[in-house]
Amino acid sequence: MIQIQIPEKVNMIIQTLTTAGHEAYAVGGCVRDAILGREPADWDITTSASPYEVKALFSRTIDTGLQHGTVTVMLGKDGFEVTTYRVDGEYEDCRHPKEVQFTKSLIEDLKRRDFTINAMAYNEEQGLVDAFDGIKDLQRGVIRCVGNAEERFTEDALRMFRAVRFSAQLDFELEESTRAAIQKLCGNLQKVSAERIQVELTKLLLSNHPEKFLDVWETGMTHIFLPEFDVCMQCEQNNPHHIYSVGEHTVHAIGQIEADKILRLTMLLHDFGKPSVKTTDENGIDHFHGHQVRSEELAGMILRRLKFDNETIRKVKILVYYHDYHPSLTAAGVRRAANKIGEELFPMYLEVQRADILAQNPDTHQEKLEALLEVKRLYEKILEEKNCFTLKQLAVTGRDLMQAGIPAGPKLGEILNHLLEMVLEEPEQNEKEWLLGKAIEFYQK
Ligand code: ATP
Ligand code: MG
Repeated sequence: MIQIQIPEKVNMIIQTLTTAGHEAYAVGGCVRDAILGREPADWDITTSASPYEVKALFSRTIDTGLQHGTVTVMLGKDGFEVTTYRVDGEYEDCRHPKEVQFTKSLIEDLKRRDFTINAMAYNEEQGLVDAFDGIKDLQRGVIRCVGNAEERFTEDALRMFRAVRFSAQLDFELEESTRAAIQKLCGNLQKVSAERIQVELTKLLLSNHPEKFLDVWETGMTHIFLPEFDVCMQCEQNNPHHIYSVGEHTVHAIGQIEADKILRLTMLLHDFGKPSVKTTDENGIDHFHGHQVRSEELAGMILRRLKFDNETIRKVKILVYYHDYHPSLTAAGVRRAANKIGEELFPMYLEVQRADILAQNPDTHQEKLEALLEVKRLYEKILEEKNCFTLKQLAVTGRDLMQAGIPAGPKLGEILNHLLEMVLEEPEQNEKEWLLGKAIEFYQK
């Protein structure tokens, strides 16, 4: 007998509903995660009560999606989505049910859900309701559609991507007919909004098994929303630094970096420019000169296309642009690098380089990692000694220069940059009087 520990507030909501004569269960992702011993992200409740009946039973509610039957019940600071049992009407265009209908049957509600492992309900009185062998699939580690896979993916094409996303989060395999249906119907993903694809892509990349991204490619889905990746899979790297194609290297690199959105997106995109700049020399060795510039362009274009926010785009572009930048191993060299990349992103830049190295030819790891460690040491020393590497840290400001008689304008900006260049070389010179003297010297030249 499967027993789940339901949080007190969730139980309270279920009991309030059942005491009033309705049915109510925890349902979906929370039941799946609780059985697996994973911490559920949120607890959803499904009920036979209509939204208006739900609202009448609780003092604080929010109309989250009344037309879909969802009311959020507030208990203290926590909100819980309570949704009326429903069946989805006919689907239009592989995305939206034309209408939803409420039903009094729990089984009907479970039937509309995407995968067997997401179609279980639980309450303390009835125990587990598992009409589609979700438990068996949880134990086997399998993602399987409720009902006929082709029909379910035709109703809503996003489910195909969700299948691989769940397999990456749970380290499960796609059941055969589910996989075959994706291969057949992947083209329908075209009709799904970029926003919904973005959500699933991000969850997959941040999962414990981002290497399952290869399944997204293998089933034909990247060809629809990220064809640039398919080109990378075709791009061999005959070069002593590498043992993988660009695409395989990319997937290895994603797996080598911490599960952070900016970092994992950077690894996904860092080499996308390679195929278009590839040259092969007379010895048959491949080169990718300038790929970071092309990768940065593509990263911006792709992230915009997938409707990522501007902050994410800005950071990923900078990290992609500098991912292959190797400062000379001197304090001045690293100060110049820190000046270009900025204090905000420099630690991430180091992580990106580490992951990139670890996805390259193992024979080259040691030497590259040692150089990277030296950059890191030099950077830490720069921070410790509070060396100046930005205009903000310079001991004089534009205002100081104006007070010394230099008029505002482009020339003033040039002078400031010039002073910074000097200080990057020799941090002891970051001293107000000395810099002012130099500034006037430049101005009068
Ligand atoms: P998580 O929140 O951890 O990503 P989840 O299983 O809770 O996983 P949600 O997207 O929050 O996933 O959806 C909640 C539940 O609603 C799912 O478990 C599933 O039963 C159902 N569901 C969500 N999206 C779909 C869909 N596109 N088609 C069918 N059922 C869906
Ligand atoms: Mg959820």
